Amino acid sequence: MSSTRGKAKGRISGSAGRFGCRYGRFIRKRVVEVEKISRAAHRCPQCDVIAVRRQGTGIWTCRKCGYTFAGGAYVPQTPNYRIALRSLEQPGARRVE
Ligand SMILES: [Zn+2]
Repeated sequence: MSSTRGKAKGRISGSAGRFGCRYGRFIRKRVVEVEKISRAAHRCPQCDVIAVRRQGTGIWTCRKCGYTFAGGAYVPQTPNYRIALRSLEQPGARRVE
């Protein structure tokens, strides 16, 4: 079965198509969402080029400059990371915006 056909029937399997009919519909849907993000290329925090790829759990490497850094398990920047970064950029002082 090809994923391009049968869209009228509402085929949403995507990368979770390898599971066939197993594991249930909603958990497969969640796998598709996570893999869509984790397999995509992301912006490098050092050279600003969209070339960051997932190496393993929490390990991200830029294909352009070779910069390797720790991030989220499936996303390079988790919401908690952004909050931590914000407090690092402006220690103590809170800017009024
Ligand atoms: Zn880079």
